[in-house]
Amino acid sequence: MKFGGTSVATLDRIRRVAKRIGVEVAKGYDVIVIVSAMSGKTNELVGWVNETSPMYDAREYDAVVSSGENVTAGLMALTLQEMDVPARSWQGWQVPVLTTAAHSAARIEDIPPENIRAKFAEGMKVAVVAGFQGVSPEGRITTLGRGGSDTTAVAFAAAFDAERCDIYTDVDGVYTTDPRVEAKARKLDKISFEEMLELASLGAKVLQTRSVELAMRYKVKLRVLSSFEEQSDDAGTLVCDEEEIMESNVVAGVAFSREEAKMTLVSVADRPGIAALIFTALSDAGVNVDMIVQNISEEGRTDMTWSCPVDQVKRAEKAMEEAKEGGVINYTGLLADVDVAKVSVVGIGMRSHTGVAAKMFKVLSNEGINIQVITTSEIKISVLIDRKYMELAVQALHDAFELDKAA
Ligand code: ADP
Ligand code: ASP
Ligand code: MG
Repeated sequence: MKFGGTSVATLDRIRRVAKRIGVEVAKGYDVIVIVSAMSGKTNELVGWVNETSPMYDAREYDAVVSSGENVTAGLMALTLQEMDVPARSWQGWQVPVLTTAAHSAARIEDIPPENIRAKFAEGMKVAVVAGFQGVSPEGRITTLGRGGSDTTAVAFAAAFDAERCDIYTDVDGVYTTDPRVEAKARKLDKISFEEMLELASLGAKVLQTRSVELAMRYKVKLRVLSSFEEQSDDAGTLVCDEEEIMESNVVAGVAFSREEAKMTLVSVADRPGIAALIFTALSDAGVNVDMIVQNISEEGRTDMTWSCPVDQVKRAEKAMEEAKEGGVINYTGLLADVDVAKVSVVGIGMRSHTGVAAKMFKVLSNEGINIQVITTSEIKISVLIDRKYMELAVQALHDAFELDKAA
């Protein structure tokens, strides 16, 4: 059972959640509980790090930012003990949750289950584990990237061969789009791993992308449900194989990502190897490039455009300036538009249906929204647009694809 930040935001909520855990213990289950930091805590910690040291040492970032989960884990264990449920807290290194050394974006490599199993054998009923954190091969604390407690939860479910993995959050399941942006968004009873993976990676933060990947690979029975309502055994949304879903719409959902930037390198030489040089420099600088467009070339020069998270623009600019100074690439200008957003439609139905892209573009054009960059894959279409039209685009697409109606 995983509880996100809003579900453990106050001592009262921790008590409510502890009761919910007690219900599972009463059924006879041993429970591993993964907790997030109390709502807002991680943002506060990240802010403190940025204020102290803008070009921070990522190992110390992790030392600070991982601490929010420790507080919740201890408080949850205490609350359970107060209810006479045998429980204790575990920090990542105590389990241990072994990760790579990629600080602030580490990947879980292994979770040896022996320590926790031994405690269950001695009568412990609930292991409360601090989510989002692990330990690197060098013995330093790592974190798994924002939203990483979801991944902790799925990784534990896999490592312990759990009967199921329930992600408790502040909405009662996965919706056709973020219900905070489109009031007509519809809760899905089931969604396929593939679609959930795309929605998550395109910005639907209800599950961290990596958690969906792991659930798919290890066949974890993954469910998203609300921690604020009484829950029946089939509540929420089940994330499952597409074969388990009988009827589905061509488009399953709309995702969006607000914090995007569009960068253009003006007038670079159009010759073999140029893209490799540019994107190697960006990748070495840790810039996560998403969309790429190479414009048509004129007199042997061309413009190269890409999108990346808005908070990586400074890093990208630095990398390009250094590459220019070092004589690696030559260009006349570097433009950064930090007011764009990405909106995507996702659905496995697109494999067999044509016309989804045309319809999407038509809908946006009817709203007077200019499309700046387009990318597609087998089951999604993404566009980059002016950020101020993001909500409008999501709502218009949700309407046009009739996502408020079940198939
Ligand atoms: P937690 O703190 O429990 O991990 P998050 O804030 O990370 O919760 O994720 C839940 C939020 O995800 C919801 O409050 C909702 O605003 C947002 N969200 C975005 N897309 C969707 C979607 N398709 N379905 C449900 N929630 C979504
Ligand atoms: N507390 C971390 C975050 O806010 C991890 C999580 O909640 O999943 O990103
Ligand atoms: Mg989350």
